[in-house]
Order: sequence, then C-alpha cells, then structure tokens
Amino acid sequence: MRELLAIDEALAAVLEHAQPLPAETVSVERALGRVLAEAATARVDLPPFPSSAMDGFAVRAAETPATLPVAFRIPAGTPAPGPLPPRAAAAIATGGVVPEGADAIVPVEHARELDGRVELAERPRPGAHVRPRGGDVRAGEVVLERGTRLGAAQLGALAAAGIARVRCARRPRAAVLATGSELRPPGEPLGPGQIYESNRVLLAAVFAGAGAEVELLPVAADEPEAHRRALAHGLTADVLVTTGGVSMGTLDLVRASERELGVEEIFWGVAMKPGKPVSFGVRGATLVFGLPGNPVSALVGALLFVHPALLARQGAAEPGPVFELGRLGASLQRNASRDELVRARRRRGENGVVLEPVAGQESHMIVRAAAADALALVPRGEGEIPAGAPVRYLPLA
Ligand code: AMP
Ligand code: MG
Repeated sequence: MRELLAIDEALAAVLEHAQPLPAETVSVERALGRVLAEAATARVDLPPFPSSAMDGFAVRAAETPATLPVAFRIPAGTPAPGPLPPRAAAAIATGGVVPEGADAIVPVEHARELDGRVELAERPRPGAHVRPRGGDVRAGEVVLERGTRLGAAQLGALAAAGIARVRCARRPRAAVLATGSELRPPGEPLGPGQIYESNRVLLAAVFAGAGAEVELLPVAADEPEAHRRALAHGLTADVLVTTGGVSMGTLDLVRASERELGVEEIFWGVAMKPGKPVSFGVRGATLVFGLPGNPVSALVGALLFVHPALLARQGAAEPGPVFELGRLGASLQRNASRDELVRARRRRGENGVVLEPVAGQESHMIVRAAAADALALVPRGEGEIPAGAPVRYLPLA
C-alpha cells in the first residue's frame, strides 16, 4: 500500500511551494482581505493632540472640587482658543482638544453648569479622561506588520493613522476546473446518469474568501483532449484547482493530463477522510491542486490546503488553517489509518464549544454537510473517541 502523507506534512509541502506574488499599491478603501506586503507606518501621532474622552469640563485637578467659571467651549474639530485660565474650567466635547494647562476632564454627568459657572463636586485624578497625544501609536511607528491580513479593525487602524494606500501582494488568480462527463449545470434538466455540478460555486466561495480572483472554467468531460485543453488554460492562473478525476478509475485523467502538460507532482494522497486522493503539484510558480469530485471532499481539501495556499501566495504570515478547540458531543468510531474531518454543529456547552456530529457523514452528502458549521478533526487511531473528548475543529463560514 502507498504511504499517505499526514495532513500537516501535506500542508507543509504546499506552503513550501507557495511563492508570494508581486506587490501593488491598493487604496485602503479597497483593501479588505488583502495582505500587507510591507509594514505600514503611522503618518501622525494618534491621537494627534491630547483629546477629551468625554463630554465634560477640562480642569486642573488640583483646583477641584470647586465651582469654576466656564472660560470657553471647545467643540470637536477646532483648536482650543487658548490655555486654560487659572481657576477656570473649559466646556469640552468628546474628541475636543484639551487646552494647555488642563490635566483632567470632569464628565458632564458629574458636573452642574449654571449661569456661566460649573459646580464640580469631586476631584478627578490627574489625567482622567484625557487621551494623551500618541497614546495609540506615534508617527513613524509600525501600525501593522507585513504579512498582516486586513480585516475591519486593521483597515480602521490604517485609516486612523493617516494611511490612504498600502502595498499588498496582488490577488492570486485561481482557476477552477470541474471534471466529469456526468455533470450538468443546475437549472437544466438532468439526463440519465447525470447529476448537478456543485463544486465550482462551492470552491469559488472558499477561494473568494481567501482573497482570490476566481475564474470558473467550463466543465471538462472525461476525455483526454477536453482535459488537456482545459488544463492548459487553467495552468496560466496562479493557482489551478480541479475537482474529480483524481482517483484510481480508468477515466480519472487529471493527473496524467497534468503530467503531459509539465506539472511536477509533489504528492498524491493524504491520510484523511474525506478527501484522501487529493493531489498537489507545481508548474513554474503555478500551484496545481487536484481535489476529489465528491463535494464534501472538495470542500475539505479546499479549506485544508488551497485556502492556506492562496493566503501564502499573498505573503500572509499566518496562512492557517486556524483550528479552534472544542469537545465532541458524541462518541465516534475512529478511523484506523486516516484523520477524519467530521461535519458538526457547534453549540455552547458549560465548558466551551461542544461539537455535535450531523447525520450523514458520507462525502457525497453536501446537503447534510450544509447543516454543519464546523469540521471536527478526529485523529486516526484504534477504537472509539469518547463523548467529551477535546478535539480541534475548523469553523465553517
Ligand atoms: P470522481 O472524483 O471524479 O471520481 O468523482 C467522485 C464523485 O463525485 C462522483 O460521484 C462524481 O459524480 C461526483 N462529482 C464529481 N465532480 C462533481 C462536481 N463538480 N459536482 C458534484 N459532484 C461531483
Ligand atoms: Mg469523475
């Protein structure tokens, strides 16, 4: 019997071949999901001036408690009219510039303003509700390191630090090729022996989530010329992903066709269930994945190997996949020779996440899998893994 790679070994082999793509300049407004090719540094101190964290009154803490005249008002977006006069307060809005001399803000909730004077019953601690200049980041300091993937908070951080454009690896182009003479597009009537093609939309969703520009190729029938033509086109992408035709059948033509086209196969077969016959190769810088045709197998292979590869091609420091920790909600028979990715639903238990396997774990059962929101990784071994056992799981979006 052939020696199968472990999931981690296969992933390492993939990442080893995933070269970062060249960088381009991207406006921050359009950079969601992109990966920084260079560290981004702050253009300004943030906050750029000492600012008030509350609507209230700027004071010298040592001059309170007291009833003080209100010297002036400082709305957000205007300079303070001058230093705080001695034994006076300044009304100030959240985000207003704290005037020179003031060292604390008394929130409106703790003040009573009447006839141009304000009664401050308690002494704030010095520095109360004052956001010091540069307290978040200083001009020139690194806001985000290279290799960071930009999500909501990261985009906000860049904008706040005055950064309008960043350098990011260009988006990888991912070509998706489904193979199989039995496949018909949904929406059309099925002939005898035919099924609906579902892997292209499924994979497009996974790859778009990894920042790829996805190209869906027309389905290729199980004959050599159709394979060669489609694969030759797909190989112009940065990442080519096929489904089907990668097992032991006489009409499983993907690997042989790729070999003819100059693809160097790095591995074929991973000790996992579903998705064992997955293949991986390279031609030049193009990464070539052959996922099995069953939709759940394709999904698992895409999440475990292709998603990380797409992030790695964008230079991500942590391409994943990121597993989380949960507990099994039911005992499971382990597979002796393959790690199993069990489709499960998460629920909150007393001790964290509990993973309840969904009914219908076969690799063609994509509708059953669609009821799951997690893939629990059950390591291979003998016997049962008991309910309550800790396992790692991959959340499903
Ligand atoms: P294969 O890997 O080509 O042997 O296909 C395995 C199983 O997955 C077969 O039952 C195929 O009909 C099915 N299959 C292959 N490709 C697709 C696809 N794109 N969409 C849905 N099912 C597929
Ligand atoms: Mg097939």
